[in-house]
Amino acid sequence: MQQIVLASSNSGKLREFNQVLSGLEYEVLPQSHFDVTDAEETGLSFVENAILKARHASRISGLPALADDSGLEVDVLDGAPGIYSARFAGEGANDEANNHKLLEKLAAVPEQQRSARFQCLLVFVRHAADPTPVICQGTWEGRILTEPRGSNGFGYDPLFYIPSLGCCSAELMPEQKNSLSHRAQAVAQLVERLRT
Ligand code: IMP
Repeated sequence: MQQIVLASSNSGKLREFNQVLSGLEYEVLPQSHFDVTDAEETGLSFVENAILKARHASRISGLPALADDSGLEVDVLDGAPGIYSARFAGEGANDEANNHKLLEKLAAVPEQQRSARFQCLLVFVRHAADPTPVICQGTWEGRILTEPRGSNGFGYDPLFYIPSLGCCSAELMPEQKNSLSHRAQAVAQLVERLRT
């Protein structure tokens, strides 16, 4: 088993990565195992922040590292909330406050201009100074509703409508979302890249 460190303290992500990567002989350990504190996310893009986090975790642990960064990109808002998705309504804001702020910003925007997508960037570095990180990007296209729908998921799921499915992501069963989402697509790419 090759040990790798996950640049996150989220136990759900740790479980998910261990499930998908154990078949490839990787054991994924949380960064807390090596006393790695969160890296400063000073980048302006998902990929920059994911690389910063992966290098930071690898530098301190001495192991290959995996990091992810994800969020919602709304076209009419020039890509906002983007890398600030988790704290759109302010530091420590909850999902409800973030969704409320998004609805406010889009109040005067007609349906055909409410296009948006979830992005997930996954970065794997073999060592802290790796000049060619493995970069995987999953994208899930949709549109922002005018009011919340559904009760599954988290974050912006109640506002994210997927025209091809005719429902919003908070109305999908977890297994459905986990097979279609931006994160699912990025993870599938990562598995393929690490396999080869
Ligand atoms: P993280 O990088 O995975 O922590 O995600 C950052 C933020 O993006 C979350 O706090 C959510 O607001 C938003 N986000 C990312 N993925 C999803 C998703 O699958 N559904 C809804 N919101 C998401």
